Amino acid sequence: MKLLLAANWKMYKTGEEAVLTLTDLGRRLSSLPEDRQVIVFVPFTALAQAGQARAAFPAVSLGAQNCYPAEEGAFTGEISPAMIRAAGGTWVLAGHSERRSLFQESDLLIGRKTAFALKAGLGVILCVGESLPERERGDLQPVLERQLEAGLAAVDPVFLPRFAVAYEPVWAIGTGRVAGPAEILESHAVIRAFLERKYAGRGGEIGILYGGSVKPDNAGTILGLDNVNGVLVGGASLQAESFSAIALA
Ligand code: PEP
Repeated sequence: MKLLLAANWKMYKTGEEAVLTLTDLGRRLSSLPEDRQVIVFVPFTALAQAGQARAAFPAVSLGAQNCYPAEEGAFTGEISPAMIRAAGGTWVLAGHSERRSLFQESDLLIGRKTAFALKAGLGVILCVGESLPERERGDLQPVLERQLEAGLAAVDPVFLPRFAVAYEPVWAIGTGRVAGPAEILESHAVIRAFLERKYAGRGGEIGILYGGSVKPDNAGTILGLDNVNGVLVGGASLQAESFSAIALA
């Protein structure tokens, strides 16, 4: 399994700014080891421009941060997996905590998106993670299992080779508060055990990424932990210098 180094640019960068950063990133990652894969989740409006400029940064794959689970239709403000693919994206995020909390996305909708996007040919990173009150109540395991169960409910296992989970504790996203090694190990073990149960014998093939205030100075330690197969990076991915340092850590 390749190590996945994923960047989530959230609502930052115009198309022109995205191409500049991606070109710089591509140069810095020209000697990316074969066993690593870099994906940048750009804003919708930057996807086509970035897709056209891809020859300048072949080490980097592109993705969108959201999609709607339908081929087309009267869904104002949404875009389909086919539109993402046509613009040059090969991946999509599902269930980022900002989508869950700011836009009230339900487990059910996230499950529909995950299954539909995989079927439509995209790779999917399903984000799961507990809030601070949930952790403090001792609900880590039930929350992760509920989100995974719903997220994977309609997924055909044939698509698992282009599916990954990102564990992103809500209290560590954009807060500068990184989960410690013991917390990451515990949560990733819960996720791995769930995947092993659900996909007897194949759970070990699914990548589990950690996300939450990953920076160049903590990436090496996090990537060295058991059951950590990559990272999903927000703030520190906006500059090519810091994200390339993480991707090469
Ligand atoms: C994210 O947006 O998925 C994320 C982990 O953000 P940050 O790295 O800024 O905490």
